[in-house]
Amino acid sequence: RVLTVDMGERSYPIYIGEGLIDQAGKRFAEHGISLKSPILIVTDENIAAGNHLAHLESSLKQAGFTVSTAIVPAGESSKSLTVFQELVTHALQAGLDRKSTIVALGGGVVGDLAGFVAASYMRGIKFVQVPTTILAHDSSVGGKVAVNHPLAKNIIGAFHQPEMVLYDLNTLQTLPKREVSAGLSEVVKHGLIWDADFVAWCDENAERLLALDPEALGYALYKGCSVKAAVVSKDERENDLRAILNLGHTIGHALEAVAGYKQLLHGEAISIGMVGAARLAVKLGASEQVYTVTKHVLSRVGLPVRLPVDLDTDLIMDAMKHDKKFQEGSMTFIVPVAIGRVEINHSVSASLVREIVEQMK
Ligand code: NAD
Ligand code: ZN
Repeated sequence: RVLTVDMGERSYPIYIGEGLIDQAGKRFAEHGISLKSPILIVTDENIAAGNHLAHLESSLKQAGFTVSTAIVPAGESSKSLTVFQELVTHALQAGLDRKSTIVALGGGVVGDLAGFVAASYMRGIKFVQVPTTILAHDSSVGGKVAVNHPLAKNIIGAFHQPEMVLYDLNTLQTLPKREVSAGLSEVVKHGLIWDADFVAWCDENAERLLALDPEALGYALYKGCSVKAAVVSKDERENDLRAILNLGHTIGHALEAVAGYKQLLHGEAISIGMVGAARLAVKLGASEQVYTVTKHVLSRVGLPVRLPVDLDTDLIMDAMKHDKKFQEGSMTFIVPVAIGRVEINHSVSASLVREIVEQMK
């Protein structure tokens, strides 16, 4: 499958299929990646332990590219200015110039980090994404790249669109089960905000998705990327639209902050957040079905739909107040008014949110 993401004057293809890494050399040449300038592959130690890195290196070398590789520690802590600087050092020593390309082989962490190096090295060089997690379907569209500051996530960043995305479904076969479900959380989110038929499809095909069936995964990633692409490309005209991608994230971010980022993965936290938003929607007049369908599809793909009981409601409410969307006893919420359709509500009362948090334990 090929999807074209149209970002204003920039558009780029997302290829989704099996064995794409072995065709990387050919695709790079087709897309005008220069043979004369060195390429830097950035990946993490977990991915480097498998055979995908070796395949990518040999495919590019066979096509005549000069390739060097930087391996960073796995995990969010690599999205730092320290690792950023190490990568710039690596790029300089490997002789990367203005016509060079940086390739991210990995999940959202490697994508955001390598993308930010590509955005800033010599004021911006080419970037290619080779995502290896399901969650990375989200970060491969929209062009946001960033590293973290100790005081705030994703606060040092840029917009930098890739030349192309090569989504090789074979890489996903080694993903830990928990990461599979966490990634599917954002896939389901894209259905819940935009496409009721796709939500029904996710429900029917949950077993195939969890078993990493390539056909099912390919379709799910294609749909997830399509919805995100539709939202971010329209957002250039409708400024508020991009906010709908935050379904489940108001409660979700608060849970991550209170539970600690180890206890709850991002996808798990927003799963609980989406169920909370659905409960809220029902209180505000939506059909009960919004809640039952949301909860059902998320539990089918192996995600939590209740709050861990040991999380303190006061702490969760405090964490939400630090969210910029909170003011004077009312807050902004993305409310699923029907399956496949959301509205932005700027005046949800904090006491109602509190009631819902309590009920979800
Ligand atoms: P990740 O990159 O840390 O990957 C999760 C874990 O899986 C890591 O331990 C990694 O080493 C391992 N892994 C990756 N691919 C593997 C494979 N094929 N086989 C075995 N193990 C593998 O995390 P993620 O969930 O992919 O991404 C999270 C990051 O993405 C966050 O930093 C978040 O801020 C960012 N993000 C960015 C955007 C954006 O628009 N730029 C959108 C969503 C998320
Ligand atoms: Zn998210």
